[in-house]
Parts: sequence; structure tokens; C-alpha cells
Amino acid sequence: MKKNKATTSNITKRPPIVVVMGHIDHGKSTLLDYIRNSNNVTKEAGGITQHLSAYVVNHKTKDGSEESITFLDTPGHAAFQKMRLRGADVADIAILVVSAEDGVKPQTLEALESIKQANIPYIVAINKIDKPGADIVRTQSSLIENEIYVEGMGGDIPWIGISAKVGTGVDDLLDLVILAADLIELNGDVSAPAIGQVIEGEVDPKRGNTATLLIKDGTLKSGMFVVAGHSFAPVRIMEDYLGKSVKEASLSTPVGLVGFNTIPPVGSPFYTVKTKKEAEAAIAKKDQPAIISHERSLLPIVPILIKAGTLGAIDAIEHELSKFTSERITVRIIGSGVGDITANDVQNVSATKNSIIVGFTVKVERQATDLAERLGVEINTFDIIYELSDWLNTALKNRTPKMEEVVVTGKVKILKNFSIQKNTYVLGGRVEEGQIKMQQRVRITRRDIEIGKGTIKNLQQYKSDVQKVDEGEFGMQLETKTEVAPGDYLEPFDIVVT
Ligand code: GDP
Repeated sequence: MKKNKATTSNITKRPPIVVVMGHIDHGKSTLLDYIRNSNNVTKEAGGITQHLSAYVVNHKTKDGSEESITFLDTPGHAAFQKMRLRGADVADIAILVVSAEDGVKPQTLEALESIKQANIPYIVAINKIDKPGADIVRTQSSLIENEIYVEGMGGDIPWIGISAKVGTGVDDLLDLVILAADLIELNGDVSAPAIGQVIEGEVDPKRGNTATLLIKDGTLKSGMFVVAGHSFAPVRIMEDYLGKSVKEASLSTPVGLVGFNTIPPVGSPFYTVKTKKEAEAAIAKKDQPAIISHERSLLPIVPILIKAGTLGAIDAIEHELSKFTSERITVRIIGSGVGDITANDVQNVSATKNSIIVGFTVKVERQATDLAERLGVEINTFDIIYELSDWLNTALKNRTPKMEEVVVTGKVKILKNFSIQKNTYVLGGRVEEGQIKMQQRVRITRRDIEIGKGTIKNLQQYKSDVQKVDEGEFGMQLETKTEVAPGDYLEPFDIVVT
């Protein structure tokens, strides 16, 4: 952050940027909805624009001061966890939502890890206190057990019991947010050119490449150019979180900006320059060859092309996919893009064997369907992330190669060699462990070293043919090319396919 004017009066207090994190179903979305809906501005405007994944509320504290708070509002599904986790890097303060019914859960800890990595203060909101099963004391214990030392329990992490559904404690929670913000003294220079982060990117069918930017410092004004990654855009069509056109935006404000040459990567920092020339020069400097890492792997690969409505969703799907890579299968993302699935997409992936196109909240063009059928490309589209996860589970399982496992069922000592004819031995043996069965394959070992393999062609015990022998001495016919002698061992095994 450039602060060469730090001594002038341009430095002002900056509203906190807040991310709500926590385990799935603990009430993050409900809390974000409650806060948004109880804010007058949004009520009058009748809801915020879909893809501006942040909003601003005005909060009047108990002391009577009017404060602004910016909330990151990423979708609430499990697959969007990554976006939420990344939120910690953008935010100044986190609210860690923990259900008073369930206590700390795996994603609570995952969220905590992100908060710690981002090194931002956080407040624990013990949620769902209106529910009969709510138990604040037990929840506190579960927090302590996980080294989240809340105030009043030997620690200094502020916490509050809330009901995101009915609103109990939410005002106090916002007071705590303001208190935490005051402690870290957030400020910015409104006279500086804006810097910040890209929090969402999408192709608007009517307007082209748009992105949501969050201004961390400075002011973004009409006529400037924004540079993010390899993308740039003129500040011409700019909107606030209500979709209202604005000419200027400043500290901690989310804005939608239309007109990027390419969609900037979500999470990338942006800065501002005065002219298009400067913007182009800045990008040219960055255009160095990318480093590609080669994974040398013999695992079967499932190549996947992702098409989704927004860049953030692509990220989320990638996160979801990464969970499916197992010891037996590798998911490789061969491409991704924002927009509907086209014949061109099908054509592109058809070069890669067994590839799948996964679409999330997008349509499949007719020609694409036809071509996919002809070229044998699998296309699957979803609107709900859970469906996507379920489908992935089955699709990948179906493609997982079967693994053969050798299960040794017993151990037999060879006592006597009665006769040999071609490759068939007539032997006397004794079961020392487990059992031996007809037609079973056996490993032949001598002093614990495998010397060959064979197949059991006949088993006899007490002068009758039997299907298996569990104990005692018995006679057998063993077919093998290995020379077998008394004292050798046989280890009968089955091949189990899993
Ligand atoms: P998220 O996955 O963390 O975003 O969780 P949601 O906000 O979707 O909440 C999961 C479920 O818990 C929903 O059915 C909510 O209505 C419910 N819920 C969330 N907060 C509360 C609360 O304070 N009280 C009650 N009774 N239900 C809640």
C-alpha cells in the first residue's frame, strides 16, 4: 500500500471487510441473509444484483455511531467453501459461525486454518441458540477443546450467542465487528489511485467480461484503467452492489466493472493506471511463459472440462474435483471457461480420450449435444452443487480401474512327493494355517522365497476327493512348472477384485 501522503488529511477510517466462515449448515448464509435483509438500503432497492458477491450495510452501534460494514457474500454450498476460505485473504475480520447444536466440525477447523493463515482477527458466533437442542456451554467446551479460546473461558477471542434465523444477538455481533475493526485501525487514503482484489468474474451475455472488485485503498474514478493479472478494463461502466451506476467508488466498496479484455482471475490483486497505454504496457511485462509442472503418473486420468456461469464457480468446482483424486484415479482439468457448452468445447475435448464436460448453471447448445453424441464425449450439467458432487462420485467410481488383491488363504507344508507326470505332481501335504481349496492358485516357497506358482487340480483327504482341506494331512495334484520338493511350502491364494 503506497502511503506517501500519510501525513496529509486524506487518510480516513476505512469500513471493515468481513467474511463469514464455518462448517456447512451452521448458518453462514442465513446470517448473511439476515444482515442484508435487516439493512434498509437493500430493502428499498428490492435485493442486490446476483453476481456482486459482496454487500454493504450501515450499522448503528450501541454508542450511537453510524458505521459501514462490507460483507463478502459467497454462495453457501459446500463446493463454495474454497471461495469462503479465500475470503479470509480479502477480509479484515472473520466471523466464525459455529452451531450451538453441533459445536466445532471439520470445516470449522478448515476455516480457522484459513483465518490464521490470513492473520486476521475473528469473532465466534455461536448460532442457532433459538433451537431446543442448542447448548452454549457444550459448544464453548468444543471450542476450547479445539484451541479456540473464547473470552470468559481463558481466552480473548470475542464470541456471542446468536440466532441468524430470528436475529437474536446479530446487532451485538455487528457491534463486536466494529470493536474489532477499531482495534486494528483500518484506514485508507481516498486521494490515492485504487488498489484491491478481484472477488468475482463472469461473462455477462449482454455486456461482456465483467468483474467484481473490492477496493482496499484509494478511489476508483471514471476514466482510469484497472489492471488485474493479464486483464484490464476502462473505468466506464461501474456499478455498486445494488446495480446502480456510479462514477466513483472508494474504501472497502465492492463494485462491478464491465469491459475487461479478458476475465481477471478471482482473487488477483488489481491496481489502477491513468491510460490504456499504461495498462497495456503493464500486461505486456507480465506476459512471461507459465511454468507447467509435469506429474508423472501411471494412474488413469479422467480429463474434465469445466464450464460454469462464473469464475468463482469454476474455482469451487475445481476444489470439489480435487477431493476426488484417489490412489487409483487422477482428475485432470483440461480446461475451464465461463459460458454455455458449445460444439467448439466438444470438438476441443474430443481429442482427449474419455473426457467429460461438466457444466454448472450453464446450458448446452444443441449442436454441442449432437456432436458429443457422435464423438462419444460425456456432458453433464448441474444447477445444484450437491448433484454435481453426487454425480462425480459415481462417474469417477465407474472409471476407477478394478484392483486385484491377492488374498492368501492358508499355508501348507509339502511332506511327500509321490509322482511327477509332465507338470503335474502328486504330493502329500499338511495344512499348517487356514485352508486350501480346489482349483486354487498357490505360491510355492522355499525358505520363505517364492520359487514359483501352481494350481491345485485335485484334493483328497481320507481317500475321498474333497473341495477343500481345513486341517490335517491330505493328498493333492499340483500343476506347476516349478520343481517341488518335500519341505517346500504352498501358499494358496485367491484374487479378489475390488
Ligand atoms: P450454511 O451452510 O452455513 O450457509 O448454513 P445455512 O445458512 O444454509 O443454514 C443451514 C440450516 O440451518 C438452514 O435450514 C437454516 O434455516 C438453519 N439455520 C441457520 N441459522 C439458524 C438459526 O439461528 N436458528 C435456526 N432455528 N435455524 C437456523
